[in-house]
Amino acid sequence: MRSYLIVDIIKIVNTEDNLEIMRHSASHVMAEAVLSIFPDAKFGIGPAIEDGFYYDFDLPRPLTPDDLPVIEEKMTEIIKADLPFNHREITKAEAKKLFASQPYKLELIEEIPDEKVGIYEQGNFVDLCRGPHVKSTGEIKAFKLTNIAGAYWRGNERFPMLQRIYGTAFNNQKELDGHLATIEEAKKRDHRKLGKELDLFLMPEEIGGGLVIYTPKGGRIRTVVEDFWRQEHFANGYEILYTPHIGLSKLWEISGHLDFYQENMYSPITIDEQEYYLKPMNCPFHMLAYKSRLRSYRELPLRWAELGTVYRYERSGVLLGLMRVRGFTQDDAHIICTPEQMNGEIDEVLRFSLHMLRTFGFAKYKVFLSTRPLDAIGDEKLWKAAEDALRRVIDENRLDYEVDEGGGAFYGPKIDIKIEDALGRQWQATTIQFDFNEPERFDLTYVGADGQEHRPYMIHRALLGAWERFFGLLIEHYAGAFPVWLAPVQVKLIPVADRHLDYARKLESELKSRGVRAEVDDRSERMNLKIRQAQLEKIPYMLVVGDKEVADNTVSVRLRSGEQLPTQSFASFLEAISADIANKV
Ligand SMILES: [Zn+2]
Ligand SMILES: [Zn+2]
Repeated sequence: MRSYLIVDIIKIVNTEDNLEIMRHSASHVMAEAVLSIFPDAKFGIGPAIEDGFYYDFDLPRPLTPDDLPVIEEKMTEIIKADLPFNHREITKAEAKKLFASQPYKLELIEEIPDEKVGIYEQGNFVDLCRGPHVKSTGEIKAFKLTNIAGAYWRGNERFPMLQRIYGTAFNNQKELDGHLATIEEAKKRDHRKLGKELDLFLMPEEIGGGLVIYTPKGGRIRTVVEDFWRQEHFANGYEILYTPHIGLSKLWEISGHLDFYQENMYSPITIDEQEYYLKPMNCPFHMLAYKSRLRSYRELPLRWAELGTVYRYERSGVLLGLMRVRGFTQDDAHIICTPEQMNGEIDEVLRFSLHMLRTFGFAKYKVFLSTRPLDAIGDEKLWKAAEDALRRVIDENRLDYEVDEGGGAFYGPKIDIKIEDALGRQWQATTIQFDFNEPERFDLTYVGADGQEHRPYMIHRALLGAWERFFGLLIEHYAGAFPVWLAPVQVKLIPVADRHLDYARKLESELKSRGVRAEVDDRSERMNLKIRQAQLEKIPYMLVVGDKEVADNTVSVRLRSGEQLPTQSFASFLEAISADIANKV
């Protein structure tokens, strides 16, 4: 099993704490073990990463999972031998001699600005490295090699593909076992695997990387979410805009995207000798809608939302299932308001976003506040007021947060909300971002109570973020067993024999008329096989109907967990499932 993982999403950590020092040291030990098996191995880099370490190798043959235990055994020998890690500083000329047969190391040596370079030696292995390391290999405790992947040298597809071995190390076996169990669970929940098994979406090679087709079941879920989203937006004082997928180069010149965002945009399409670009963002269209006439302070705030499908260039090496794609739909909105309205609007957006996230079952959040960077544009006072508004609303909601000083975009401060999934992993969802750039570029104004023209505040926000990524999260969070209100099929009717088919069909049409998504399994298969199938499809309710149920107008209810509920009247089942759907559980 080989997966192609991606340098960008892997967080290379600084070797500061002891666990990370041990993990990085383990990568050197792994490299020594690999060298003993493949004397001609060429070495890339071997950093500690979040939850473990890796090392990239150029080897004479592809590795297979069977190689891992062999390498582990060698590593265990090296650890048992308790070899010291020796550090030396040598001149670049010496280093070049020492690493003469290591082209990747030579490349790295060239780029080191200092006169001297650091090397670390243990046993038969010497590496170009700044350290730090543990004192000797014996300090490496419980470790495990977890995965083999292909990885381009320097994460760039124009360079050779190396073989990466991932591993992890912990202070004791118990912590290691706990971590490995989490990885196993994450594999079971992988949205790419479940997406195939549950027939939710496709990403066929023929349409190109990072582009998604939603199949009927995935389409159902998306429709339910979008309907809910629209209803909530109208209820919260938003209006919905629809805008085109392409726009003239002139638009992107005004907005500034061709200056500061072009590397993320696709090449232009020429129509009638004019250049059009696929939209990477929806904002410029909303700005034009605002500017279509003179605006009075009486109209503000304007809250304009759009499920806007945008296209952004991502390197092929970083694409990952639904989590990193090239075409995606943002649940975008722009709020245009007066300075006096800003605090209230920020309050509302945060409340709204938490309401949405909670409805989808995400109960833990981490908030990140990013403040004014050095290259900021716009009035310092405006920045200060906007940052204060963001800080205050986080405090008032008693949310756990971190400040990224100077980490804001050049055009405004923002808060990002990361949600924690069922495995405790954090994912970016909501963004609330001030913008002092576009109102300026599009010259947005409103006429105030004083009869003068003023510049409004503009806030971009996405609550769920990108639908694609949010869907991936939902799949993994629920391990594909969606709550009733989201399940693409909510009820599977299972007739025991063909003579019960009419009754099953009658119930199906009653359920459908009440807005319940129901299906009859009318195949002439054994009942148990049909139940098993419905369980695999993670359908919340199975209604088994036979002679007794037909005679009494009842249903025998099974849950996807395998639990059997007492036989009940069809009317009471209908009431119960309608309540589930209404309560969004
Ligand atoms: Zn090192
Ligand atoms: Zn925007």
